[in-house]
Amino acid sequence: MKNANPHAVLLASPGMGHFIPVVELGKRLATHHGLDVTIFVVAADASIAESPLFKPPRTPNPLNLVLLPPVDISALVDSSTSVVTQLLIMMREALPLLRAAISAMKYRPTALIVDLFGTEALAIAEEFDMLKYAFITSTAWFLAVAVHFPYIDEEAEHKHRVLKRPLDIPGCRSIRYEDTLDLFLDPTDRNLYVNFTHIGMEVSNADGILVNTWQDLEPLTLHALENEKFLGRVVKGSVYPAGPLVRPNERSSKSEVMDWLDMQPMESVIYVSFGSGGTLSVKQTSELAWGLELSQHRFIWVVRPPVDDDVSANFFNVTNSHDGTPSYLPDGFFTRIRNRGMVVPMWAPQTEILAHQSIAGFFSHCGWNSTLESMVNGVPMVAWPLYAEQQMNAAMLAEELEVAVRPKLQPNTSVVEREEIAEMVRRVMELKGNAMREKVKELQRSANQALVQGGSSYNSLSKVSKECELKLRRLSAMALGA
Ligand code: UDP
Repeated sequence: MKNANPHAVLLASPGMGHFIPVVELGKRLATHHGLDVTIFVVAADASIAESPLFKPPRTPNPLNLVLLPPVDISALVDSSTSVVTQLLIMMREALPLLRAAISAMKYRPTALIVDLFGTEALAIAEEFDMLKYAFITSTAWFLAVAVHFPYIDEEAEHKHRVLKRPLDIPGCRSIRYEDTLDLFLDPTDRNLYVNFTHIGMEVSNADGILVNTWQDLEPLTLHALENEKFLGRVVKGSVYPAGPLVRPNERSSKSEVMDWLDMQPMESVIYVSFGSGGTLSVKQTSELAWGLELSQHRFIWVVRPPVDDDVSANFFNVTNSHDGTPSYLPDGFFTRIRNRGMVVPMWAPQTEILAHQSIAGFFSHCGWNSTLESMVNGVPMVAWPLYAEQQMNAAMLAEELEVAVRPKLQPNTSVVEREEIAEMVRRVMELKGNAMREKVKELQRSANQALVQGGSSYNSLSKVSKECELKLRRLSAMALGA
């Protein structure tokens, strides 16, 4: 690779929810802003390399996707280790590989861009005199919590964690206890608390922070992140809202689910999916099945075996009833929903589905990628948050943006009953032309505007690319002077 263009190295942590937006960021930097891009991917195992998502996209500038050899961390974890801690260990173990790969490059790359779990790698950027950026694949509101986190004093922590009062974030909307992050809920995992403090500091000290949001979606929070009176005090570099960075809808191959969708009336189907990792309990899975059936609406449901079922993870091997219904779904379910429901095991082509004209609603776990995919397609939601920052996303969708309905109880801690599920589906599906649909279509327009040339997110990435060019010129001048 020549060093005529600035070269950005991106690092993606394990999980589709990180890999997908990092690749989209890489594509935009290469396609619209003339950067050379290398993406190093850390994964739990090598299977991701087989995924069609791993194919390097066609871009005018080279975009290299490199899977770092997966490291066995089994000796470092046990069954009680949280997913976040496991992710951090995997990232830490991958650092020597990343360092060696950068060191072996003929020309020194200009910038390192890491996601939330890769912030320890920013030390490598310093070592090689590269610009260091953090990329937050979630909201600016979540970024605000992350950078404020190291400064939360004991009293404020006690009020939130123990007394369950809202957590104040300077210049931003407070977070209700019911919507808070996992790490405030589990008082035993101090490790997580300490790790998140380090992450908050490392993100704050980066040369710049990219966020998968856009200016008009979160103006208040983005203002607080830049303003010295609020979080601008602790954030060293600029904050660049660069989203929504979502996979384009490319209808690739023929699939049963898309063929089925083609046959459904316009805006008649609700899509039900809980992301790449979300899994429900046995009882909740059954209530959801009944709720969808009771709603009388058409649906596509991406089903995973429930977490407290003791059958193997292989969906097709579970005991089936006479009509093929897996044992954890109500008996006869498949027969009764045959004409208006489609059940997809494990994984569905989500971006294609959400872009389809037959889709009218999305019953979602509110992972930020899924949320953005819903917004860019103008689809209102049933917000069903399960873990991480998804409660915050759900609160923003339902209460601030008013594009989603939410259950009264939290689906991660209590069982939501079938009648309530049916009612929420009806509210989303039967409100054609009403306020929620109008509002989400408005967000869709504003997202498009942010991304086109001259839009706020486009301009953010132009600024990042300018910084990289300046850095490259400085490095070249130094090399000539040496
Ligand atoms: N996804 C998909 N098919 C599925 C489940 C998920 O294509 O059956 C994609 C989805 O489109 C999104 C990503 O996987 O881009 C999930 O990311 P998100 O942030 O929504 O949730 P996470 O999986 O990180 O909890």
